[in-house]
Amino acid sequence: MGFDASLGFVVNLGAPSSPVAYYQQVGRAGRGRDLPAEGASVVLLPATEDRDIWAYFASLAFPREEQVRATLAALAEAGAPMSTAALETRVDLSRNRLETMLKVLDVDGAVRRVRGGWEATGREWTYDAARYRRVAEAREREQQAMLDYLATDRCRMAFLRSQLDDPELAADPGWRCGRCDRCGGLALSTEVSEAAVGEAAERLARPGVAIEPRKLWPTGLPTIGVQLSGRIKPPAEEGRAIARLTDLGHGPALRELFRAGSGDDDGRVADGPVPEGLARAMVRVLQDWRPEVDAIVVAESERRPTLTTDLAQGLSRFLRVPVVGRWAVVDPSVGPDRGATNSAQRVAAVGRRCALRLDDPAAVEGRRVLLVDDLVVTGWSVTLAAAGLHGAGAGAVLPVTLAVSG
Ligand SMILES: [Zn+2]
Repeated sequence: MGFDASLGFVVNLGAPSSPVAYYQQVGRAGRGRDLPAEGASVVLLPATEDRDIWAYFASLAFPREEQVRATLAALAEAGAPMSTAALETRVDLSRNRLETMLKVLDVDGAVRRVRGGWEATGREWTYDAARYRRVAEAREREQQAMLDYLATDRCRMAFLRSQLDDPELAADPGWRCGRCDRCGGLALSTEVSEAAVGEAAERLARPGVAIEPRKLWPTGLPTIGVQLSGRIKPPAEEGRAIARLTDLGHGPALRELFRAGSGDDDGRVADGPVPEGLARAMVRVLQDWRPEVDAIVVAESERRPTLTTDLAQGLSRFLRVPVVGRWAVVDPSVGPDRGATNSAQRVAAVGRRCALRLDDPAAVEGRRVLLVDDLVVTGWSVTLAAAGLHGAGAGAVLPVTLAVSG
């Protein structure tokens, strides 16, 4: 992060996962200011989602052995350098995780970076489970230290200095900063005006986030037999969802709705009509957005058939346009989440799993189509459905969903 301006406040909404990371962030407070006369305030507002967010990043730790072996095998088999994009079509890992893993393998001597990508060195490589576990344990200790920082009744600055193994603090264990809240030095008012609370509540309750259309097909698709590349012509229009799953206002209701295993003991998800609060939020989204459409096509869901059908029928009644077709599941043997971590594999999987089924082949010709789905995760399902609709002659495709993941 670079700042030219003077920095009078650092406010963290949500806690970083380690005291050292936090110290680095708040160390910027006071930059460009005439201290101590002008002062600088530092406030940490921990959030209930903090631990979930840390756990998510921890789950992105070093990949399982079979994924590493698959990568090494793909490189050995290629016999020539492979780009990360090409490798991505062979291994079910996101681009970031794949690149991080390749860097580790490079240090270990199993692969090397060359012009055109990566190649296998042929050197024997062992999966060092103990080492990856030590890294994971160190991360857990840091997270616990962050929770201890939040809970401490000691001087907060002394706590951070002890985390940094500050030798001067070790020599003076009774040191206190005299400026933090625990030292009684924080002079921030905790009063908030009713107008500000009202404005924030209004903003949080107002539903509607844009679904940005994808503009480019992932690279490497032709190498896995999918003849799509370059620009998506034409792309879908910008769509709308009620909110992101991580949002404050409608996020909790949407997270509850899409929580895995929220149904019976088989780990299946609960299905049912759109809950009333979310139906009302959707109406507000439509009133703000005012999409001009002539027909509705609904993305079929095996897990939540009632939810998506109810959503499509509700939209049909409200907008007074007919449901004319489905983005149908034609090969259920391809799981609904297949390839979710990696764009090329996701496109290939959705292309096998789903196909457009129209009541009448001419149903969307020259029409503006509202494409209804329950949840956007990677965006590729919506993108392929829109491409299918354009192929069937649709003039424009506007996606609408209850939620956007992330
Ligand atoms: Zn203090």
